[in-house]
Amino acid sequence: MAAQTVAPTTDSTTVDLGPAAALSCRECGHRVPLGPVFACEECFGPLEIAYDFSDYDTEELRKQIEAGPANIWRYAPLLPVPADVATKPNINPGWTKLVKADNLARELGVTGGLYVKDDSGNPTHSFKDRVVAQAVEAARAFGYTTLSCSSTGNLAGAVGAAAARAGFRSCVFIPHDLEQGKVVMAAIYGGELVGIEGNYDDVNRFCSELIGDPAGEGWGFVNVNLRPYYAEGSKTLAYEICEQLGWQLPDQLVIPIASGSQLTKVDKGLQELIKLGLVEDKPYKIFGAQAEGCSPVSVAFKGGHDVVRPQKPNTIAKSLAIGNPADGPYVLDVARRTGGAVEDVTDEQVVDAIKLLARTEGIFAETAGGVTVGVTKKLIENGLIDPAKSLVVLNTGDGLKTLDAVAETGLTATIRPTLESFREAGLAQ
Ligand SMILES: *Cc1c(COP(=O)(O)O)cnc(C)c1O
Repeated sequence: MAAQTVAPTTDSTTVDLGPAAALSCRECGHRVPLGPVFACEECFGPLEIAYDFSDYDTEELRKQIEAGPANIWRYAPLLPVPADVATKPNINPGWTKLVKADNLARELGVTGGLYVKDDSGNPTHSFKDRVVAQAVEAARAFGYTTLSCSSTGNLAGAVGAAAARAGFRSCVFIPHDLEQGKVVMAAIYGGELVGIEGNYDDVNRFCSELIGDPAGEGWGFVNVNLRPYYAEGSKTLAYEICEQLGWQLPDQLVIPIASGSQLTKVDKGLQELIKLGLVEDKPYKIFGAQAEGCSPVSVAFKGGHDVVRPQKPNTIAKSLAIGNPADGPYVLDVARRTGGAVEDVTDEQVVDAIKLLARTEGIFAETAGGVTVGVTKKLIENGLIDPAKSLVVLNTGDGLKTLDAVAETGLTATIRPTLESFREAGLAQ
């Protein structure tokens, strides 16, 4: 762990990252100045951003947010970014739709209000644009010129696009056998895209080595050495959901888990809104969703363990296929503290759930969304989700990137261009 950082070209005492005050260890609380570091020098625990929110007037803040741009930067006062962030070249994700899903609610028997937060509407069609937009601002502040990442697919596309727009070089790493939609989406923006012979955990290990080597010198890995900043982007999901519900906490949320970062930061975002007085304090439950073929956190939760035992992933939900999730233990904490749960579904249930969401709400989710909707259904059936309380389900990606999963879907009939042929096909009223 000697080389836990790449020397930034900017003195970290002079960086302007708005309300971010320091980096703080999630394990021992040790604080260090803002910089491109991600592991505690005392205990090697993961670092996260600490803020000084003491001098905010709640009503002023609410007004400022509501007058802000229709993207994540409306929450700039709560993020590690300079106040003038909206003037910088950035893909500006966020403010995606919160869809009231009444048809799906009817199918699932939910009466307390069911919403789908649809992040397929982001610039590169996944939630990853939120975290990358944050990392870009940190990379800019620290003087990096190359952006990189280890990715299960969506992150590579988000980094490619954000780098193109913001004027960085990009070189990203993915498992070599991803869906074509993910590969093309990552390559099209003109950066370098490298397939690694191995799974995501191999890719991630490789990137950790590269960071400590002169070959990776000066590179900002959005989900490694910039991870504390990157992770904060997920808080914007919590902020948007609450603002779109009229500054209210939902009772229950279902969130997919890959590394588990998104789930833990949505919780952090909700806690901040409570602390700032922007929402009324009341209990909420956070549920985590995994695919059975990569369910290390779900297995640990159901077994009552604190330790997440790594798995070798084998599932169609490739964007969630992280066998050794960095935030796994923190996800267990959040699920247990809030009275939620972590559950998993089979690949067959993932496909059924993709079709269910499409058929009821006109939303075509990628396999990760199928995991989340499938787990939601299962948790309602086994009584862990209360159908009489409000429920927000996160759709984090777009079905056009994972067409193979539903490849048997297609033409209802092929006919000659005649009415006779149409009638023969049995499609007339
Ligand atoms: C990366 C990803 C997730 C989960 O991300 P983590 O923060 O690593 O848990 C969920 N859905 C999609 C579509 C993703 O690409």
